[in-house]
Amino acid sequence: MISEKLQKALNEQITAEMWSANLYLSMSFYFEKEGFNGFAHWMKKQSQEEMDHAYQMASYLIKRGGTALVDKIDVVPTGWGNPLEVFKHVYDHECHVSKLINDLLETAQAEKDYATQSFLWEFVKEQIEEEATAQEIADRVEKAGNAGIFCIDSQLGER
Ligand code: MG
Repeated sequence: MISEKLQKALNEQITAEMWSANLYLSMSFYFEKEGFNGFAHWMKKQSQEEMDHAYQMASYLIKRGGTALVDKIDVVPTGWGNPLEVFKHVYDHECHVSKLINDLLETAQAEKDYATQSFLWEFVKEQIEEEATAQEIADRVEKAGNAGIFCIDSQLGER
């Protein structure tokens, strides 16, 4: 049975994952409107991945005898200046998510809940990729400039 404190922290993370899913969906809609269909596709997949994280956490919580909640999700930003701004935003957001996961792991350590620590290490590892991917795309977009951007757009459309 999971502790009340950890259950609350996991439910907050489920809400944060769903907020991330909405953020990336908002970015996807922005790209679609701007005619970057590859970026829009990539962002929609990213959004689905965040929902998957929420589902995984909810299933884990339920398996441990807890109750998973669907809480209120705050509004997400809309409208960016250009694709580089969007991917820099993704990078900053993923760094923020890494901190949330680390804090959650610290709570699990304080509660001496080894099962939850083990469960969360997968997300710690996942964040290495999330940060690196966002940084890599931002770098590519920055170097490509206006001429090369549609080439990256079509590459990301293959995700
Ligand atoms: Mg996530």
